[in-house]
Amino acid sequence: MTKDSKRVLIVGGVAGGATCAARLRRLCERAQIVVYDRGPYVSFANCGLPYYVGDVIRDEGRLLVASAELFQNRFNIDVRTEHEVVGVDRERRTISVKNLKTGETTQEHYDTLVLAPGASAIRPPIAGIDLPGIFSVRTIPDSRRVRAWIADKSARTALIVGGGFIGLEMADNLARRGLCVTVLEKADQVMPPLDAEMAKPVRDQLETHGVTVRLSDGVKSFVATAEGRLIATTDQGAELTADLVILAIGVRPEVGLARAAGVTIGTSGGIAVNESMLTSDPHIYAVGDAVETVDTVTGTRHVVPLAGPANRQGRVAAEAICGRGTHFRGVQATAVCGVFGMTVASTGASEKSLKRAGISDYEKIYLHPGHHVGYYPGAKPIHLKVLFRRSDGRILGAQAVGEEGVDKRIDVIAMAIQLGGTVHDLSEAELCYAPQFGAAKDPVNLAGFIAENARNGDMPLASWDSVRDADGFRLDVREPAECEKGTIAGAVNIPLHELRLRLGELPTQGPIDVYCAVGQRAYYAVRLLRQHGFDARQLSGGWQTHCTLPSFSASRRDPP
Ligand code: FAD
Repeated sequence: MTKDSKRVLIVGGVAGGATCAARLRRLCERAQIVVYDRGPYVSFANCGLPYYVGDVIRDEGRLLVASAELFQNRFNIDVRTEHEVVGVDRERRTISVKNLKTGETTQEHYDTLVLAPGASAIRPPIAGIDLPGIFSVRTIPDSRRVRAWIADKSARTALIVGGGFIGLEMADNLARRGLCVTVLEKADQVMPPLDAEMAKPVRDQLETHGVTVRLSDGVKSFVATAEGRLIATTDQGAELTADLVILAIGVRPEVGLARAAGVTIGTSGGIAVNESMLTSDPHIYAVGDAVETVDTVTGTRHVVPLAGPANRQGRVAAEAICGRGTHFRGVQATAVCGVFGMTVASTGASEKSLKRAGISDYEKIYLHPGHHVGYYPGAKPIHLKVLFRRSDGRILGAQAVGEEGVDKRIDVIAMAIQLGGTVHDLSEAELCYAPQFGAAKDPVNLAGFIAENARNGDMPLASWDSVRDADGFRLDVREPAECEKGTIAGAVNIPLHELRLRLGELPTQGPIDVYCAVGQRAYYAVRLLRQHGFDARQLSGGWQTHCTLPSFSASRRDPP
């Protein structure tokens, strides 16, 4: 930005818009900065809303990160809440702003405009969608309404439509308040961004805590009963009755203003921007949930509604406006969610997203290590899946679920992905260790070791799909007592400690696919067998992974 005072107008004053405004001021004291938000607040913590509904956060004021007064007093930024920007005239470089309190509309000139309008909750056009008691949770007033409804109606049951991150956070929080919760999800798994086998423990966790999970079914219509309850009819014909309904079926980027102004909208539906967050108009930037960005792993463009990217994009746009060459490097969708004490986290590509992008050069491993050493009390397993490029070992993505230490491992891997790291970097990673925090061989290191072993041929991996192959030879190296709880149909059981003595029972031709409980004993067995000339491979993650696979029920043999 030149030394002359420029007028920068920002539409939307929460994650992306507020960050952009504050950064801009720190870089340019002379700019005239005005932020418009149609809501009553700026810079509020929308990520905290489920916890406000759940009474974990009791004081609504805690959700207000900064007020209009603070922006004015501390940063000399003019924040106008309850002001909706209703039009952009790119030729004249003006916006039309409607004061929602007075109804008056004014024209405001800009030198630079920043669009940070976020996303809106999807509300499908189905019968009864606008009935009282059906809520989306996007704003503080939305959450206030849900809280009031629960109190006024003495609500006991809730239906949550959508089993993604926000839906499950709401399920957790409403159950915490004593409501009986049902989650209805159209996909055949909860947490649709995860791969199905990684979402299975999440579903189990929900059910263990009394949540009814109804998959592969969507809502078709709503009606209200005479007592003011709601009945949702589903695609499958079920009728689900609840005292309130939360719609959490995703969001749509708010691109109405940009589209009407002729700013280019990208193929995935978000505002198209370059790496400086500049739109197709040289005077208009856009940031946050409203824009589409490049997926750093798959190279595809999409909209990723997450707070971290929105904040970083706001910062990048401010720097670009001030003439700095800062670039936004894209999104890899690192996300985390808490569900009844379980942490679910992911970063980078899932197997699903790789397939969608037409990428087949990948390998996957599963492991289930403790979050810290087993000898220190309280070790909890982390179920971890890591995807990497078969050809060069580059890490593509990771997903993890568990009670402790999940976010730490995913964050470490997220950083490795951002720096273009390979699985060899994971095995070499030097991470902090003391018994109550981790292990000298941290789960991140173990993931690296397993992937390295797979890549260098020490422990080739068999596909879990091969379990359905009638001709294959499966070797279960667990103890017989463990096999009694369930095993793969047709598998031969030779416990690891007997293996050296019973090599004659194994086929000398064709692969031998080895598994144990979680993978460790199978690894030892594979090494032993390969050194004796057998074509041994590992079924990664062992029986524990097998039990989470969609094919599990089909291949399951009941215990004898
Ligand atoms: P927003 O924060 O939505 O702000 C956009 C603002 O623009 C809104 O206040 C809106 O009123 C205003 N606006 C829109 N159009 C106009 C207009 N024409 N004129 C004036 N004002 C306008 N992300 C995470 O990473 N982790 C989480 O745990 C997480 N939890 C979430 C929980 C909930 C319940 C919700 C709703 C979201 C959550 N998110 C989470 C997503 C995260 O909040 C968003 O990605 C982030 O807020 C996007 O920032 P933004 O600035 O693009 O949009």
